[in-house]
Amino acid sequence: MNIILFGPPGAGKGTQAKYLVKKINGYQVSTGDMLRNEIKKDTIIGKKIIENMNDGKFVSDEIVNNLISEIVFDDKKKGKLIFDGYPRSLSQAKNLDLFLQKSDQKIEFIFFLNVNKETIIKRIEKRKILENRSDDDLDTIIKRYDTYMEMTKPVLDFYSKNPNFHEIDGALEIDQITNKIDAFLQV
Ligand code: AMP
Repeated sequence: MNIILFGPPGAGKGTQAKYLVKKINGYQVSTGDMLRNEIKKDTIIGKKIIENMNDGKFVSDEIVNNLISEIVFDDKKKGKLIFDGYPRSLSQAKNLDLFLQKSDQKIEFIFFLNVNKETIIKRIEKRKILENRSDDDLDTIIKRYDTYMEMTKPVLDFYSKNPNFHEIDGALEIDQITNKIDAFLQV
């Protein structure tokens, strides 16, 4: 079962992805983690990535598509992919379709964790008090949220016609979101 978790930063995709990985014994495909890993390796690509990530902008489709190809075409991971943070643009969504066709796979569930800007800001503020983070975080998160909403609108239109597309209120508590996902998976 391949699943796409879709939604703005702060919606809880990563948390639900980790839950799903355990549940179906799957593999989390987090482009954010993969990109951070490239940065750590300090490669030329890593340097390009860091510029965009720091600005709250998207990394180029070419770099991201290349990174995920290694996982989608890995026979060991086939049919057990939990996409978290990919695809984020229409071009990435079309590329994923192509990769899935070529590797004889499909997506069984698309979950859109929808959450508005006010809720995200409240969450970040809470985290700032709890974890003593700086104000820069909030600015970057807002920038990332705006970029996400602007860039992913076409992806949302692309997937929302799909019968296996389900919107879930991302403002709910973690457990409530998990319960909703579980309910869909059981049908
Ligand atoms: P995330 O950890 O998913 O919130 O991603 C952190 C940052 O990595 C984003 O703000 C983007 O700059 C970059 N990023 C992650 N996934 C993608 C993607 N699929 N396409 C382009 N940029 C991405």
